Amino acid sequence: MGEYATYDGESIKIGTCEDMYYLRYDQRNAVIPKPGNVDPAKDADRLWFRLPRREEENQKPGSFEFIDPFGVKPLRFRVKSDCVESKKEQAQIALECAEKTKHTVNGLTVSVPCYHGERGPLPEGMEYSEDFDDNPNAIVAVSIRDGKAKALVGCLTCKIAYLIVDRDEMENLEPLYEKEREDWEYLLRYMEKMEEDR
Ligand SMILES: [Zn+2]
Repeated sequence: MGEYATYDGESIKIGTCEDMYYLRYDQRNAVIPKPGNVDPAKDADRLWFRLPRREEENQKPGSFEFIDPFGVKPLRFRVKSDCVESKKEQAQIALECAEKTKHTVNGLTVSVPCYHGERGPLPEGMEYSEDFDDNPNAIVAVSIRDGKAKALVGCLTCKIAYLIVDRDEMENLEPLYEKEREDWEYLLRYMEKMEEDR
């Protein structure tokens, strides 16, 4: 369901259900909620806000472009190689949350679980190919839960958001692309500010 609010005297769309695709966390007090719609300031701890990107810093509430499938340009990452425990933990969570992906060959449709890049156990007769992508994960949104800034992780293979990470857990992660290192640092600073600005 579309969520709307008033900004600068005009009605704007801020999101769909709990996903505030068109509103950053720092903009939650800049809009006036409409009756029957979410209040992004009061309801912040049950919503997800637009992932802050440096290039969108000056964009106004409601003016953001929707980029499929998570609404925003995802910030891709990998687990730091020296954090084996963290990677195992992530694999375990991925298995618990495994969703189905469909492949169609000659009219035959089969459903296979998506392991979100981790090499989980496969059914008999199936194997991972050499070009298996073990980094399909990205940060796709941020929010606040009990005063702590959280990042939402989505899988670019099956296109579902499946994991919530704390700011300190993000120390175990690093940007997948070196060119996005500044964006990564920008996000960490933003999340730090979220915890100060409540
Ligand atoms: Zn997946």
